Amino acid sequence: MPDAVATTDTLTCRAACGACCTAPSITSPIPGMPAGKPAGVRCVQLDEDERCRLFGQRDRPAVCGSLRPSAAMCGASRAQAMHWLTELERQTAPVVPA
Ligand code: SF4
Ligand code: SF4
Repeated sequence: MPDAVATTDTLTCRAACGACCTAPSITSPIPGMPAGKPAGVRCVQLDEDERCRLFGQRDRPAVCGSLRPSAAMCGASRAQAMHWLTELERQTAPVVPA
């Protein structure tokens, strides 16, 4: 997620991105979003620099801390990340019976 220091061995979170805090849905409660976050909605905890205000705090959802930058997810730009994450969300959305 958009932490300036979020890294893996090979990839660092891009500054001013925030795609993975916007495109996916999050079902866990987030301070300010008690029912979680719908897909495509910017998390209220993203600051103006697209960084998480809850980084390092106990009330940050566990799912946020478990997500790591990856080449597939982050792509080469915020637009690519938004596209990939939006498509993943669409493919994994529950099927609503007709
Ligand atoms: S999509 Fe990748 S680069 Fe963008 S905020 Fe998330 S981890 Fe960082
Ligand atoms: S809580 Fe932080 S890491 Fe999780 S979606 Fe919101 S801004 Fe992103």
